Amino acid sequence: MILADAHCHLNHELYKNELDALLERSKEAGVKAIICSGVNVPTNREALALARKYAPLVRCSLGIYPVDALGLPADETGLARQVHPIDMDAELEFIKQNKENIAGIGEAGLDFHWVKDKQLREKEKENFAKIIKLAEDIKKPLIVHTRDAETECVEMLESSSVKTVILHCFTGRKHIIKKAIDKGYFFSIPAIIQKLQHFKMVAEMASINQLLSETDGPWLSPIPGKPNEPANVLYVIRNIAQVKNFTEEEVANNLWLNFQRVFG
Ligand SMILES: [Zn+2]
Repeated sequence: MILADAHCHLNHELYKNELDALLERSKEAGVKAIICSGVNVPTNREALALARKYAPLVRCSLGIYPVDALGLPADETGLARQVHPIDMDAELEFIKQNKENIAGIGEAGLDFHWVKDKQLREKEKENFAKIIKLAEDIKKPLIVHTRDAETECVEMLESSSVKTVILHCFTGRKHIIKKAIDKGYFFSIPAIIQKLQHFKMVAEMASINQLLSETDGPWLSPIPGKPNEPANVLYVIRNIAQVKNFTEEEVANNLWLNFQRVFG
């Protein structure tokens, strides 16, 4: 089976001493492509360096996480932190200059779970608008993170001309999922689908041609007590096969084609 992990964080400190072994396990499981996503100034550089070192297996996307853009401490730890608001224009320029070296832009989006302040939420929208504009300009797929802001997020994407939208770990409600399906967006289904009914529902609702697999490793592990890793995309294949009544082989082939269509 040929597999792909469309979104993870190989630069996380949990992987530091075992990245080679982890990539070996990925290859043994059939993983042929991994996209490591940056989220801020330091991690964008780390993701680029990993993609350079481990090409062609590892590729990268560069992004600005909505919470990091504001310079706020986030809930997730273990990645290099952004403690001051990001100079958005400078970082977007950096991404633009690296357009030949990246598979896409992201992760980026809107997070209202972590940000409650009204003004800061407006600022998030402003920042996201700039990132959308960059994705339009350099014609790269946009890997979107959104939490508790799905409606606003999809609305912003709808009025854009971004070529390819990938909703990663999308937790929006049914009617918003439906809307995103109609817009032709892709859903990157995480390995935690093994445990979370929500993602089984997303996989069931969307066409097989709109699905990708990811782990978001080291987070969202399907295996208790163990950090998530790219080889676990097998769980995605298995669960999609179950809800759609396809063979695992069929699902893997379809998702690999989708991955190539999206990221080239
Ligand atoms: Zn992520």
